[in-house]
Amino acid sequence: MGRIPEHVIEQIKESNDIVDVVSSYISLTRKGQNYWARCPFHQEKTASFSVSPSKQIYHCFGCGAGGNVINFVMTYEKITFPEALHSLADRAGISLEEYTYQLSEEEKSISSQLYELHRLAIDLYRKALKSPEGKTAREYLIKRGLDDETLNTFEIGYAPEAWDTLLKAALMKKFDEKLLISSGLVTESERKKKYDRFRNRIMFPVFDIRGNPVGFGGRVLTGDDQGAKYLNSPETPVYHKSRILYGLHKSRDAIRKTDKVLIVEGYMDLLQLWQNGFTNIIAGSGTAFTPDHARIIKRFASKAVLCYDGDEAGQKAAVKTGLI
Ligand code: ZN
Repeated sequence: MGRIPEHVIEQIKESNDIVDVVSSYISLTRKGQNYWARCPFHQEKTASFSVSPSKQIYHCFGCGAGGNVINFVMTYEKITFPEALHSLADRAGISLEEYTYQLSEEEKSISSQLYELHRLAIDLYRKALKSPEGKTAREYLIKRGLDDETLNTFEIGYAPEAWDTLLKAALMKKFDEKLLISSGLVTESERKKKYDRFRNRIMFPVFDIRGNPVGFGGRVLTGDDQGAKYLNSPETPVYHKSRILYGLHKSRDAIRKTDKVLIVEGYMDLLQLWQNGFTNIIAGSGTAFTPDHARIIKRFASKAVLCYDGDEAGQKAAVKTGLI
């Protein structure tokens, strides 16, 4: 994490009134100039925990806990200083993007090239979905009830059957072969022959929270439901599965507004619910739910509803997720 400058930290404090923030966790009662509650940091019967709106601090006369709004969130949520800053910045709509990672110039250019390559792939796959070779994929999506608006919103596409659709297009655009391999979109045989990882699949692009395309989930079209239905991009310099939630770049505002997030298992579940008006929704992406995922969600909503399959595997996953 890059260093967040002092003036931004001040701005975050100023934009998060301590009474608002504390009362989103515990209920406060006004007495005189200050607000009072039973202390959340020690056991007590009478209220000795006070919050001062004029000084923007809290103090407990019982256990001595005290500090500003950032200290409160850190202590209450048991999170680190940078995590508390991010949470409060999100709450106030302050962007910390430029401080989030301190990338070297070289890393920056690799990330932006990877985004560009994924953009190229998305455009290619979307075009293919609308072409004659995408017919079976289109029919499948229609059968599952998805309309054009949903498919366009999430930029769903189709990876053609050929071994080199993306490879050829990327080389023509002068993308470096090493970059193609590190993106995971192109793989290499033992004999060093390069080919597209995703072929004859419905393609679900995965975006980071800022809306940069970072990976794909590809669903098989044909045949046996026995094998794995999905193939996902591998971990790459821009695709960290434990920190990416599918759909979040589109749903974050609705999640914040409703203070509630619906968590579903798959891309398809998400699209169907989205289309039916449930836009405060996310899905895991190529991995099980992680504590990092839970932390990200907590920044946006205090309530999470798990909508997993009714089958045994789904219920087990739901129990596991609920425990995080
Ligand atoms: Zn106390």
